This record gives sequence, C-alpha cells and structure tokens, in this order.
Amino acid sequence: MKKRRLIKSLCCFFAVLLLLAGCTQPQNPPTETDTMPNDIDQDVIGCYKTTEYSYLTAVDASILTTNLNEAYLLLANKEYPLGATYVPSDLVDLTCPKYQSSRTYQLDRRAANALYAMLAEMKAAGIDDVMVASAYRSYSYQVSTYNNHIANERNGISEDAIACFGYDYIKTNYLDRGVYKLSLEDATTVVQTYSAQPGKSEHQTGLCVDLATSEEKEPLTVAFELTQAFAWLSQNAYKFGFILRYPNGDEDVTGYTYEPWHYRFVGREAATDIHFGNLNFEEYLYLYRT
Ligand SMILES: [Zn+2]
Repeated sequence: MKKRRLIKSLCCFFAVLLLLAGCTQPQNPPTETDTMPNDIDQDVIGCYKTTEYSYLTAVDASILTTNLNEAYLLLANKEYPLGATYVPSDLVDLTCPKYQSSRTYQLDRRAANALYAMLAEMKAAGIDDVMVASAYRSYSYQVSTYNNHIANERNGISEDAIACFGYDYIKTNYLDRGVYKLSLEDATTVVQTYSAQPGKSEHQTGLCVDLATSEEKEPLTVAFELTQAFAWLSQNAYKFGFILRYPNGDEDVTGYTYEPWHYRFVGREAATDIHFGNLNFEEYLYLYRT
C-alpha cells in the first residue's frame, strides 16, 4: 500500500530528525506540517465518529471512551523515553486471570476496567483462557529485565542475534574465529530489537498488557498469532480501546519486532481510527497531531 509506505517513511524521517536533534521529551510526537505532502489522506482520523459498535455483553462505554484524553495517548518509545522517575498515578492490582497466579500485576485503573470488559466479551465469544502475562513494569524492574536479556545474549549466539545481524555477519565475526558468545556491543544491539532500555518501555506507562493463552507452549512468542484469542483481538480489540502496539512489518516505525501478544490501551476513539486506518500508534499520532 503506497500511502502506508509513505506515512511510514515520513514517520521514520521525522523520528531520525528528532533523534539527531536530541529531542527526547515525552508527550511530544512529530508535529511538522510544512513538508506534509498533499497525497496523504487524513480521512482515517475521526472515523470513530461514524463507527457503530456492537457487543455481546453489557458494556459500559464510558469506560472505553476517553475523548482522546492525552493521558491515554502517552507515547513511550526509543525516541520518547519516559525517564527514570515516571510512575503512573492510578495503578490498580489486576484481578483477572494471571500467567503467574501468585504474582501481582498492575495497570492504570481505566485500562484495567477496559481490559476486564474485553476479557468478559472474549469469554462470551467462547474464548475463556486468556491471561495477563505482563502489565505495568517499573523503571527498576525494566533495569533488571534488560540486564538479564543482555547477559543471556552474551551467553551464546541466539536466533535473535542471527535474525538481527544476518548469518554472514555472525559467521565472519564469530563462528569462523571460534567465538561462540556475542560481544557486549552486539548483545546490546540484539536486545534492543525486542526489549526496551530502562525508561523507554511502554510497560512503564501502565497502559499495556502482554496476553497469553493455554493454547501456547510458552507465552510471549509469535505463536500467539495462531491462537483463537489473537484472531478475536485482531477483529475486536479496538472496540475496547486496545491496539496491537507492534504490528508485523512496522519495525522501522515502532522500533520493535512483531509482538502479537502486546496490547496497548489508547481509548476507543484512537483505537478505532488506528484499526480502520491500518495504522500503528506512531503513525496515528503523526496524523492526529498534524
Ligand atoms: Zn509487552
């Protein structure tokens, strides 16, 4: 799709520009308008106004609609880190099924209520094995997660490393030299394709969840896209204000590889535009703010 590629290119372009400019403030996505080409159709923005929503369950729509409240459009990515001190103001303990039942998972109150409504709807549709595998993650938690990933990557040469650098690079720089462990620099590069540096994780917003089901052997793999839950979410998550945050093929814009299990609450209005516009979150914010 030509238009989509064009939007992606623009988002990349501005992301690079902002990165070069050292612009790292959160809540400040690209807003350039001067070079906006005429052939970008912005009609997808605002399509929620004419969308009719239907639900199997008795849904309280006031939970799902945010009137595009900026608090729910909070952007956290490699260009817009939240920093070490950001903590969401209204976290609650999740009471829905959890992957590790003894663990406490927290989420923003509104996002939690929207998640409960979505899980109830999934249950009504016959999908009753969905669990939360990860939710809010504090800065310090992300420090240890990130460091663990680096240590694991340095322990050998993973499939992620081969996917990141290509086999030729790995062969020339490691295998041919009898080296079977990644350097710190290369390990860091690999980890940053799938795990956020502390302060740059969307999980620190308290607005996103990783979902798992009993269909999977292990959670948080691309096998999630083969589940009934994923099929349902792809069609219905927007009705509950959630979006697939890291779509397949959008790595150059989102900065992360495909994560079919990761859903972000943005409110029903934005989620609807993103769903029907076939956008990712960065693209939506770019269009919404221009
Ligand atoms: Zn996640």
